[in-house]
Amino acid sequence: MSLANSNQELVLEVADRFRSVFGSTPDSVALHEPDFDGREAELLIDCLNSGYVSSVGRYVTEFETELARVCGVKYAVAVVNGTAALELALHVANVGADSEVLMPSFTFVATANAARHLGAIPHFVDIDPDNMGLNPDALRGHLESIVDSKRGVALNRRSGRRIAAIVPMHTFGHPVDFDRLQAVAEEFDIPIIEDAAESLGSKYFEKPCGSLGMVGAVSFNGNKIITTGGGGAVLTNQESLAQKAKHLSTTAKLPHRWEFIHDQVAYNYRMPNLNAALGLAQLERLEHRIREKRALATFYLDTFKSIDGITIFKEAKGVRSNYWLNAMILDQEVANARDPILTMLNDSGILARPSWKPLHTLAMYRECPRAELPVTNDLHSRLINIPSSASLRAKLIPRTENDRRY
Ligand SMILES: *Cc1c(COP(=O)(O)O)cnc(C)c1O
Repeated sequence: MSLANSNQELVLEVADRFRSVFGSTPDSVALHEPDFDGREAELLIDCLNSGYVSSVGRYVTEFETELARVCGVKYAVAVVNGTAALELALHVANVGADSEVLMPSFTFVATANAARHLGAIPHFVDIDPDNMGLNPDALRGHLESIVDSKRGVALNRRSGRRIAAIVPMHTFGHPVDFDRLQAVAEEFDIPIIEDAAESLGSKYFEKPCGSLGMVGAVSFNGNKIITTGGGGAVLTNQESLAQKAKHLSTTAKLPHRWEFIHDQVAYNYRMPNLNAALGLAQLERLEHRIREKRALATFYLDTFKSIDGITIFKEAKGVRSNYWLNAMILDQEVANARDPILTMLNDSGILARPSWKPLHTLAMYRECPRAELPVTNDLHSRLINIPSSASLRAKLIPRTENDRRY
């Protein structure tokens, strides 16, 4: 059989399998949609009645307290979105103009944008195929070849710039190999700032994602595991960093009964009370949602394991992924079936998507420094994100009696 024919068969087999589990619903199946199945309406109405809908109010504080508890950190500072959270996290970690920030190229564009808005330069490093996050060995090898360490400052000898931070991202909810990354970071005296936008509720062994580095950032965009409409938060155990982040997010206004005194150029990034009310109700459903999403991942693993040429991505040993987005990975030999599968699924209303274009291929980041990126390029060419809403699990049609247990 020719390769073209075997690809054609694979495309049909995958599409058939999807149609058999989703049924012939007239509605399309979203990649990820939010659920409002808790106290959302109740808390939002209470917030409206309180009159405090903007950036001051008790829901902001309550949301931060609860979020810090869930994420295992001392402080959470709620802000308007995940990109703003990451920008503040980098800011308080001393990332500034003409420094470099090591990060994966295999990430959402916001990771690089947050650094760039501070005047810093993204510097791309490859990922580990086992967790799709920054690869500690690739990072060490690259740093060994480019860094001169001077008095605790890591200098890129090719560019002359300071390397100010390492930003691992827990791709689709799968924790990075953190201990080994940290060993490299310590060796070179570079702080770790986590982009935990996709990994709220995921755990690296017993530790929640977002609590692992010096500072972390999470997102509550509408497509994330919980949503505040738009929102994000800075997480840290260091009081001084939390205070700085909060100060910067609230126009750097000094407390005073009436005077407007601001002591630096800052941002208006504080999360409004309305969004925090929504967030508090959503947070109460986080564990439920993770259970549903993990069951959905198990269902996909079982449903697709009999098809040769594809694998459903599975969490690494010892960690707990929130399985924010499920990923279907094609074998290298059938990588060119990716686009036909995407077309077929989207034509059937199943809104599957490729992964983001690697950032080093985007116009504004093409000239940024980078290590070799073979895994990034390879994985992008054969990965498909498939519908992953938590509510989906209950709507699936079991193919066998066995599947009913999910
Ligand atoms: C969603 C996301 C962000 C940014 O979050 P927003 O709330 O959309 O600004 C940052 N990094 C990654 C990896 C994300 O997936």
